[in-house]
Amino acid sequence: MANEAAAPQEEVRKNCPACKKALKRSKKYYREGDYYCNKNCWATVKKGVTGEADESAAS
Ligand SMILES: [Zn+2]
Repeated sequence: MANEAAAPQEEVRKNCPACKKALKRSKKYYREGDYYCNKNCWATVKKGVTGEADESAAS
């Protein structure tokens, strides 16, 4: 029985919500209650484009 399987989203963010890259402890951009790589990634999330900024999305 692994408890961590049903862990809610309360843990410290370890990956950037924008580019999904791992966040370094000393190199993260804190903004509005979340952590990002930098201001650019934060802006990306603010725009509503969470990840998948590649051409994999079929329009
Ligand atoms: Zn990022």
